[in-house]
Amino acid sequence: MATPLVVITGPSGVGKGTLIKALRERIPGIHVAVSATTRPPRPGEVDGRDYFFLSPEEFERRVRAGEFAEHAVYAGHRYGTLLSELERPARLIVLEIDVQGARQIRQLRPDALQVFIAPPSLDELERRLRARGADDEEQIRRRLEVAKRELSARDEFAKVIVNERLDDALSELERVIGNMLAGSGPD
Ligand code: 5GP
Repeated sequence: MATPLVVITGPSGVGKGTLIKALRERIPGIHVAVSATTRPPRPGEVDGRDYFFLSPEEFERRVRAGEFAEHAVYAGHRYGTLLSELERPARLIVLEIDVQGARQIRQLRPDALQVFIAPPSLDELERRLRARGADDEEQIRRRLEVAKRELSARDEFAKVIVNERLDDALSELERVIGNMLAGSGPD
């Protein structure tokens, strides 16, 4: 039996990372997959912990070698989940990926629970992207463009959680994951 898999998706800046960090502390035996990317590291990010930071050539080599479970281009950079990350010994594996990647995982692992995290509004998303101070103006603009497209895909997902208040979103996420682990689906 494959390890139970949860895919967390939704626009950049919506709070996926914060929610997953909190889940890590609450769910024993959780493995959060480390993605590969060609994006340069942000200050404080560590290779092998936050991402596997790969050159475009190395990323492409691994795509051709069939090493990715999914991969996509997001705001001008490549991102992907290595198949090896889905084979880690764990009680639960969590992926934090974009909508394109989530669609690919849906084909590969139809048993995975897919959760879309939505912002209360686009204005609020813009405010959060700016407040986190991680991206320059050009990246923020691109991320908001992508966000509009991503938001229109929310109905594809079995479960949508609006991240208005972090505590509420976290409780809901914990609840649906608990249901999945208990074998009774997302609701
Ligand atoms: P960031 O550059 O802010 O770390 O990530 C940008 C976007 O890429 C986020 O929406 C994030 O969910 C997505 N992302 C991160 N890792 C992966 C991955 O392995 N595959 C895909 N498809 N998207 C990813």
